[in-house]
Amino acid sequence: MNLSATLPIPYIAPMHENANDPADAPAALTYPFSSAPPPGQALAVAQGVMWLRMPLPVAGLNHINVWALEDGAGWTLIDTGMQTADTATHWQSAFAGALQRRPVMRVICTHMHPDHIGMAGWLTRHYDCRLWTTRLEYVTCRMLVADTGREAPLDGLRFYRAAGWDEDALEHYRARFGGFGKAVYTLPDSYRRVVDAEQLAIGGRTWHAVVGRGHSPEHLCLHCPELAVLISGDQVLPRITSNVSVFPTEPDANPLAEWLESLAAIQERVPDDVLVLPSHNEPFRGLHARLTALITGHERRLARLQELLAAPKRAVDLFGVLFRRGVSLDMLGMATGESIAHLNCLIGRNLAARELDAAGVAWYRRR
Ligand SMILES: [Zn+2]
Repeated sequence: MNLSATLPIPYIAPMHENANDPADAPAALTYPFSSAPPPGQALAVAQGVMWLRMPLPVAGLNHINVWALEDGAGWTLIDTGMQTADTATHWQSAFAGALQRRPVMRVICTHMHPDHIGMAGWLTRHYDCRLWTTRLEYVTCRMLVADTGREAPLDGLRFYRAAGWDEDALEHYRARFGGFGKAVYTLPDSYRRVVDAEQLAIGGRTWHAVVGRGHSPEHLCLHCPELAVLISGDQVLPRITSNVSVFPTEPDANPLAEWLESLAAIQERVPDDVLVLPSHNEPFRGLHARLTALITGHERRLARLQELLAAPKRAVDLFGVLFRRGVSLDMLGMATGESIAHLNCLIGRNLAARELDAAGVAWYRRR
């Protein structure tokens, strides 16, 4: 089953890979593992921590990393892959092989994007175990899945028209609306809530919940001081940057401010010497250098945007500053969301203002 034709957006922005920009180059990151495990196989990356990879049918991003933690007689899984027939096959091979037919005790999801939570319902039903995640991730996922089968709402059309979309782009949005649910197996009807700073006992070790915001509403990272390991989800990625977007459901949100606060908080709470296990790319060392690079990258883009707003601009006029690649129709929602996230952050700092014209298009200028 190839879902790429129906997926709305990949929720990650491979458009601004930093490798080609010396100003963005992550200083001093090291990658201790020379190769990733093929789908269906597993590689031990710390004591009792296995690395698995699932393919993604998404342009520009072909995999997600998931993790299996030894937990008594079985496994606690962290993230699950997107709902596809391929992902199910690879899980089955992994259980029959590297995971030694031991049962899944629970499934923890870092956040509600389909590549992370997509197979949670399938796994928890098969093993009769629970989904653990934060409340906003669970509830938001239920909300987005419930959009499947609905028509694109007026609020959404108004939002993207205000951003500067033309009729072709709006038609694309209408046609794709509700696609989120197609990539997510029916969620469990109940879950176990995890809260920030909670300590989870997994396989005799303590893992600390570190909640971040901005990429998703209440993103869960897990830090094990004893192992010096941080499972970072999409909150910290080494080679690409996570999408930080404003969506039509909350047009005045300021997720970039939340994102920057979260990155700074992780720098306070998690020591630099951890092995970071991210959801995309490879495990790495150099957490604090990466956090600093992410923060300064966004600050530089904010400053550049503010300069450009000397003359009024629409959200779609700013892609050149934000993204290194051209923005295809498939990426337009994510790119627009990220552009508005930067603009709303400038407005939040009182550095920009927004005005609607007679056609309902929003123009931003510096102040
Ligand atoms: Zn994500």
